[in-house]
Amino acid sequence: MVKTRFAPSPTGFLHIGGARTALFSWLHARRHGGQFVLRIEDTDLERSTPEAVNAILEGMSWLGLDYDEGPFYQTQRFDRYREVIQQLLAEDKAYYCYCTKEELDALRAEQMAQKIKPRYDGRYREYKGAPREGVEPVIRFKNPLDGITVIDDLIHGPITFQNSELDDLIIARADGTPTYNFCVVVDDMDMGITHVIRGDDHINNTPRQVNILEALGAPVPKYAHVAMILGDDGQKLSKRHGAVSVLQYRDDGFLPEAVLNYLVRLGWSHGDQEVFSLDEMIRLFDIHDVNKSASAFNTGKLLWLNQQYMMEMPPEHLARHLSPHLGALGIDPSDGPDPVDVVREMACRAQTLKELAEQSAFFYVDPQSYDEKSAKQHLKPEAATPLAAARERFAALPDWQPEAIHAAVAEVAEALQLKMGKVAQPLRVAVVGRAASPGIDVTLQLVGRVAVLRRIDRALA
Ligand code: GLU
Repeated sequence: MVKTRFAPSPTGFLHIGGARTALFSWLHARRHGGQFVLRIEDTDLERSTPEAVNAILEGMSWLGLDYDEGPFYQTQRFDRYREVIQQLLAEDKAYYCYCTKEELDALRAEQMAQKIKPRYDGRYREYKGAPREGVEPVIRFKNPLDGITVIDDLIHGPITFQNSELDDLIIARADGTPTYNFCVVVDDMDMGITHVIRGDDHINNTPRQVNILEALGAPVPKYAHVAMILGDDGQKLSKRHGAVSVLQYRDDGFLPEAVLNYLVRLGWSHGDQEVFSLDEMIRLFDIHDVNKSASAFNTGKLLWLNQQYMMEMPPEHLARHLSPHLGALGIDPSDGPDPVDVVREMACRAQTLKELAEQSAFFYVDPQSYDEKSAKQHLKPEAATPLAAARERFAALPDWQPEAIHAAVAEVAEALQLKMGKVAQPLRVAVVGRAASPGIDVTLQLVGRVAVLRRIDRALA
């Protein structure tokens, strides 16, 4: 059975690049009817924080990337790592190294002088003497001295490493704590991971991990190293390019479906199809088709996708997503028109939920000010007459329905011999605060009669 994992280090927020790696791993598992594991690699005690762990869990849940096992925490598995270290020592596959820092520094200086790539020379590999007094030893893995390690990468194809280039990796520090590469190996082995999908910044760790797995007699998973995501200027993606944290996208008003759709297309394609439902992604995604080279993040395309999703989504569903964004503006949607009716009119006018909430605020609260250009153009002194006439008819309407409102506006225009726009535009600016909105009849109906009359009075004052 296929089993993949996502193994983030909780040292910051859930990065958009990490989310894509998680998505690829999740899709690979789901496509093959396999399992997906979440593992928090929190052994770097100085850089890992509980806030970062929460951001990862929250980000995964917001995206809907559910896991079948976990979250596992490496800090809770130290006993197990120690056990495997003891096993390797007992089998003579690892050894205590008593080199002091000074000795290692001297070795490095010597190698640099000879223009050799600095690496530990294995001097304690066969040491059988007594422990060296005053030196807390580290434990190193006995890497094979010769031969090659080939990684048949699912994206890059075979990558060959000379074992002689890999020095004996430290698997436990002098204080006994296991090191990063070693924990990954034990976890991948214990958790039965069949496919490791991760960033290509880990390629150089892979032959070391493979050699340890082989020494432990564990099956070696298949590896797929995914290229980085770059900014549109070709530089590493960073805050300079806009939001990089998944939760920031949530707060900025993106839909999880749109973010997933955007991420799957970063480095993977299926013909020229752009919009994929989750089911289609699961059915069509093939890790072998992922691009070897880096892909560039394009905010414009994400915005476009988000808008497509907003327009396609059933209004009831979209309204549920909108409510927290109205809340963020201090608006209580129960104090005004049903958000379902609002999104029906407004969905096509915004690219994000945040923008949709901002654009829709006038349905719930009186505009604090008028858009300058709109006011200059439409709230001129001569607009007072049609506004006052409309107010009078509105107040007298037996029912507050779009047809009746429309008829009232038309009657005012006719009575004053004005074009419809000369009545509707001043009304829009007075009620909405700007000259753009859905049809004047439905806009006024949703805002409600009491608020409409109040807003006209204010414009006339
Ligand atoms: N913890 C590593 C990272 O966040 C991932 C390691 C792995 O996937 O093997 O980059």
